[in-house]
Amino acid sequence: MQPTEQFLRSKFQQYYRAHAVSAPLKIGQREFGIGAFGKKISMRHLAFADSNELNGFLRNEVPFYISYSCAYYKYPEMQPMNAKHFLQADLVYEFDADDLQTDCKQGHDSWKCVKCGASGKGTIENCTKCGAHTLKEEWVCGKCLNETKKQSLRLIGFLQDDFDFSDGIEVNYSGSKGFHIHVNNEKALQLSQNARTELIDYLSGNGIIQKNLGFDTESRMFSCPIPEKAKGWQKKIISWMLGKIENSDSEELALYGGISNALAKKLITMRSTIISGISSGMLYQFPGSKAEAFWNSLIASAIDALKLGIDRQTSIDLHKIIRLPETLHGGTGLAAKKIPLEKIVEFDALKECIAFSGDEVKVRTIAEIPEFELNARKFGKFGANEEIKIPEYAAIYLLARNAAQLAE
Ligand SMILES: [Zn+2]
Ligand SMILES: [Zn+2]
Repeated sequence: MQPTEQFLRSKFQQYYRAHAVSAPLKIGQREFGIGAFGKKISMRHLAFADSNELNGFLRNEVPFYISYSCAYYKYPEMQPMNAKHFLQADLVYEFDADDLQTDCKQGHDSWKCVKCGASGKGTIENCTKCGAHTLKEEWVCGKCLNETKKQSLRLIGFLQDDFDFSDGIEVNYSGSKGFHIHVNNEKALQLSQNARTELIDYLSGNGIIQKNLGFDTESRMFSCPIPEKAKGWQKKIISWMLGKIENSDSEELALYGGISNALAKKLITMRSTIISGISSGMLYQFPGSKAEAFWNSLIASAIDALKLGIDRQTSIDLHKIIRLPETLHGGTGLAAKKIPLEKIVEFDALKECIAFSGDEVKVRTIAEIPEFELNARKFGKFGANEEIKIPEYAAIYLLARNAAQLAE
């Protein structure tokens, strides 16, 4: 074992000796998978009878990653999958900062072409020079994590308001770039794979037909659902539209409604008429030929802003395994914390999930490292092959993602 890996292992071991991890619900029916240095999953089909067995394993074997199944099985350790005898599964959604387009990525991400060696800022799939596949170097900052958190909050809104899943919603930080939302109440557990697919369609706003929701711009009198009686998507679209009509300046309104700035200015002077129309279920038919296009565009903009970008494949996979809360992420050394629902808004992963001390450690960088922030402190940027002295938690962060090695 290399000194860097050995160092990380001993630090992870100290952590697990000092922190007992809570067992997931019905632990005996879950499959576990573990990962090694630089590899998220190296072994699956493990099972633990109880919390003692799990914590003993973490202290002695010290895996770099540990994940558990969303599914409950009669025989979780058996292989192949169908020998496990599937019982039911939690509903779990994942949001990852890598899937969101945020400006900060131009600052902290970079790519390199495997073929011609060209490189650049941000992340792209194919080289701008030769079109070959690129290697991406992705980092995370408070800004992109915050955007990811906002998606999670919107999902929780859907789950609570539209599906009445008020019990059993849990949010976990992944320990790296993501948030995981688990729903484990009885209603959610029973959902078949088809039902889960339908849920994804609903959350992603796939195939919404505005007329079926009561937004009619085809009849002689334009109409919309009455705000007080609106439910689900109707309610979300109406409140979004009301918010935009009330608070937008003409430029913003022109953009969402697909109209000229001059017309948007005119509509803003008629704000109160438009708003009182909506309150009684009417979409105001202002003079001229643009009314129909304006309302259609505004409704489409609302759907676009409100729909969730959820990965279909991973969301409906009943056999997936996912990071065990309260354990360490082997690519960052951050703890995958459970976040109480009422604390999500102020939750700051890069501060609250620090698992190691501030004692200084000397490391040598491998390649260039962009500026990054941990524990409300900024580090870097650093050049390649630079020897630096940084707090243990920051050193572990770099060592774990193989961006640095222990210095002599
Ligand atoms: Zn290239
Ligand atoms: Zn960022």
